[in-house]
Order: sequence, then C-alpha cells, then structure tokens
Amino acid sequence: MQKNITRLGVILALVFWVVDSFIDSLLSEDGITFIESCFYPGGEELWIRSFAVLLFLIFSAYAERLLKIINNMARELKQYHDRLQYTVNELQMEMAERKVAIKELEQLAITDPLTSLYNRRKFDELLAYEVERNQRYHADLSLIMCDIDHFKQINDKFGHAAGDTALKTFSNKVTENIRDVDIFARWGGEEFMILMPNANIDNARSVAEKLRKTIENTNIKTVSSLTASFGVTRYNDDDTTESFVKRVDTALYRAKQQGRNTVVTAA
Ligand code: GH3
Ligand code: MG
Ligand code: MG
Repeated sequence: MQKNITRLGVILALVFWVVDSFIDSLLSEDGITFIESCFYPGGEELWIRSFAVLLFLIFSAYAERLLKIINNMARELKQYHDRLQYTVNELQMEMAERKVAIKELEQLAITDPLTSLYNRRKFDELLAYEVERNQRYHADLSLIMCDIDHFKQINDKFGHAAGDTALKTFSNKVTENIRDVDIFARWGGEEFMILMPNANIDNARSVAEKLRKTIENTNIKTVSSLTASFGVTRYNDDDTTESFVKRVDTALYRAKQQGRNTVVTAA
C-alpha cells in the first residue's frame, strides 16, 4: 500500500514535469504565459512549480510514513487485545478454580473427615432449622441418638485403626438403613444422631430397633463384634432444641444402664 502511494507520487511528478515541458516547447511565449497564469495565478516561475512537485513528493513520503504508523498502531492494538483476551481467559479459569475450592472448603467445614457424615456443627444448624419448621407446621419430628458400646475396649484390644474402620462400617450400615430425608451426623467420638422429619415416635423406635439388630449382626473384620445403644424421642410442642436433645440423651443413658445393645424410648 505504501509502496503504491510512493510510486503514484513519483509517476504524478514525472507526468507533471513532462506535461509542463511539453507545453513549454509547443506554445509561444504568450501562450505559455497564458496557461501558466491559469494554473499558477500571477505567472510564477519554474521554481514555484518545482516547489509544488516537491510538496507533492513530501506529501507522498509523509503519507507512506503515516500509513506505516497507523499499521504499527493497528498491530500493537491487536497484540494488546490478544494479551487482554488471554488475561481475561486466565482470570475466568482462576475464578472457576476458586469456586471449586470454595465449594470443597464449604464441604469440609460441614463434614466429618472419617465417616464423611455431617459433623456436629452442621447437625446443630439442621436441627435448629427443623425445630423452627416444626414449631410452625407441627409435623412429626423424631430423634435417635446412638452410641457404640464399649468402644474404648475395642480400641484397646484391636487398635485405633481397627476402631476407625469399625466407625466407618457402622456409619455405612446406618446410612443404608435410613431414608434420604433423615439427617445422620457424627455427634462426637462414637456418638451419632439421626434426625427424622415426618417420622413419629413409633416409626423412629422401629428404625432404631432395625439398626440395633443390623449392627449386632454385621461382621466387622477388624473387630470381633460390635453393638450400639439407642435413645429415641419425638419433638413436643413446648420443646426447645436443648430440651429435645436432652431428652434423647437421657433415653440413651438409660439404654446404657439397662445393659447396652438396646433401644429406650422417651416421649
Ligand atoms: P460405653 O459403652 O459406655 O459407651 O463405653 P465406651 O467405651 O464406648 O465409651 P467411652 O466414652 O468410655 O469411650 C469412647 C471411646 O471412643 C474413647 C475414644 O478413644 C474412642 N474414640 C472416639 N473417637 C474415636 C475415633 O475417631 N476413632 C477411634 N478409633 N476411637 C475413637
Ligand atoms: Mg460408647
Ligand atoms: Mg460415648
């Protein structure tokens, strides 16, 4: 493009010069003066014409430089745009990674690492929510608390790792035997809670009894045998979360007193 403009400038200058000389040789002095006066008002001399040609050449050269500058600017702009696009892409990828990391952190904050069940913090949150919902809608809400029997002895006899395996097996067995809507959490060491929305106390008692039998009959390779005790209660209208939990804890305590591997209900 720039080359063409330069060429055009040179050609035009040559044409200009040839035509000028041609007119000079063809016409008389008067004719030349007349034509010159038409093109160059005031009848300027040759140097003025040469100056005009020079100006044109300068303009051509300048146009070429200008185009070069514009082209360079366009190239730089494109490079800048590409870099910007790259940065935007990188930022988007980083944001996606951060979202995943935040999700994982949120999950970690509410999960017990050994059993992958809800931890106590999450259970307390869900319990408060369900209790509030129950105070408004007065539906059935039951609670089972269970505690593995003589777990300290199991640890002492078979080792802590074997105890961990037993805790995981216990959690899996319970999960298999409750509904998806039930909220199952590790309350502490070898104590667990099962909150059962829309389940009355009879439903809860039979679930606890089924769980007790299942645990008793489960063969856990790392420990010889395992049993658990269960407390069961239901939510009463005048309950707070504290009184609700206290009652199920008392029921569990009685199950322990009654010799363990048993279910005690407190309405
Ligand atoms: P009880 O029948 O009265 O419940 O007796 P227990 O031995 O089960 O109860 P105790 O409270 O005396 O002991 C609980 C034991 O549970 C002690 C503790 O080392 C063990 N424990 C708590 N958390 C874990 C854990 O994550 N892994 C293992 N292996 N053991 C744990
Ligand atoms: Mg125990
Ligand atoms: Mg305990």
